[in-house]
Amino acid sequence: MERCDFLVVGAGIAGASAAYELAASGTVIVLEQESQPGYHTTGRSAAQFLETYGNSVVRRLTRASRAFFFTPPKGFTEHPLLSARPALYIAREDQLDALARFEDKVRRLTPSVERLSADRTLEIVPALKEAYVAASVIEPDAMDIDVHALHQGYLRDLRRRGGKVATDAEMTALSRSHRMWVAETPAGSFSAPVIVNAAGAWCDAVAGLAGVRPIGLVPKRRTAVTIDPPPELDISAWPLTIDIDEQFYFKPEAGQILVSPADETPSPPCDSRPDEIDVALAVERVQEATTLTVPRIKHEWSGLRSFVADNTPVVGMDGEADGFFWLAGQGGYGIQTAPAMARATAALIVSGALPDDLTEQGLRESALAPQRLR
Ligand SMILES: Cc1cc2nc3c(=O)[nH]c(=O)nc-3n(C[C@H](O)[C@H](O)[C@H](O)COP(=O)(O)OP(=O)(O)OC[C@H]3O[C@@H](n4cnc5c(N)ncnc54)[C@H](O)[C@@H]3O)c2cc1C
Repeated sequence: MERCDFLVVGAGIAGASAAYELAASGTVIVLEQESQPGYHTTGRSAAQFLETYGNSVVRRLTRASRAFFFTPPKGFTEHPLLSARPALYIAREDQLDALARFEDKVRRLTPSVERLSADRTLEIVPALKEAYVAASVIEPDAMDIDVHALHQGYLRDLRRRGGKVATDAEMTALSRSHRMWVAETPAGSFSAPVIVNAAGAWCDAVAGLAGVRPIGLVPKRRTAVTIDPPPELDISAWPLTIDIDEQFYFKPEAGQILVSPADETPSPPCDSRPDEIDVALAVERVQEATTLTVPRIKHEWSGLRSFVADNTPVVGMDGEADGFFWLAGQGGYGIQTAPAMARATAALIVSGALPDDLTEQGLRESALAPQRLR
């Protein structure tokens, strides 16, 4: 039996970042069922940092993560974690009311957003059809995230702080005895007084192992494909272009164009695979809005974005099960909010309160706590 102060289940971005922060205060072991951390949702994202995405709690968590992305701790990464990639929310004539409501909502936290005319929008993304676009709103300071560098930085520095990641270590049983959680895995038994449930789409299943009540997590499949850009177009500086009702988005991705139909199909936790209908929808929607043609799909994949009822992440002690901490429901924002949520996790476990800079952003424990869902 290996003992530590904090056991973390899941070595995706949530588990890796929380383990890194906790390792400053005690010994940490991360249990990962796969042989590679990042195999599931973390390795399948669109890698975007958008201050204007999600509800107001999510947007505050994203803003609170900004400093870590721009100035990570010394030696954390050799590459910048962010590179410029503005986000352009586009609207047809019939979507102009939705665009106005969106602009009004996000301007309060992100005053740099700007309304653009149809002509200006077409200058920025010349492949958009003139008849399709009536106006847009741009978030000029949105960014691409180097997800691999972020994830590897957390895992490397976790090990430097004395932490350990056990791979091929699916937790198959979890029990509480003498104020300790005991986890059984094919890689051995592990125990700690505190367990952090960062198992992504499997968070409710992990709770079930210990008889802890679920939080109503719903994993939802999201599909992405890449296509070749037309040879005559330089796409490298195109923004992330999103339909204001989030029916599709596209962006440059390593010389290709990543397109998603922004699907949200409920799914059991699994190794997600794209459905051909969603791949077809991605092609149909991008061809409807742009002059791009899609003779063939280069790559296609899907991942599970997991949500609870209010679409807000769940960060907090269970309240009913001693030492059982939830870090779940990251939805479509788990990469961009990871630094703030990891710091919230460590602070709530170690000192019982959110860090001051998070409360200064208007974040409250009650908005993140699992109790709100019960
Ligand atoms: C197409 C797509 C686009 C996205 N775009 C963005 C974006 O632009 N920006 C953004 O911020 N977010 C984005 N997201 C969302 C983001 O990827 C997720 O919020 C984030 O990766 C969730 O991380 P996680 O660590 O919670 O989950 P995961 O990466 O799935 O990690 C959970 C881990 O737990 C492990 N596990 C589960 N059960 C057990 C067990 N019993 N024992 C041991 N290990 C276990 C799993 O193997 C897995 O490795 C996108 C997602 C998708 C699918």
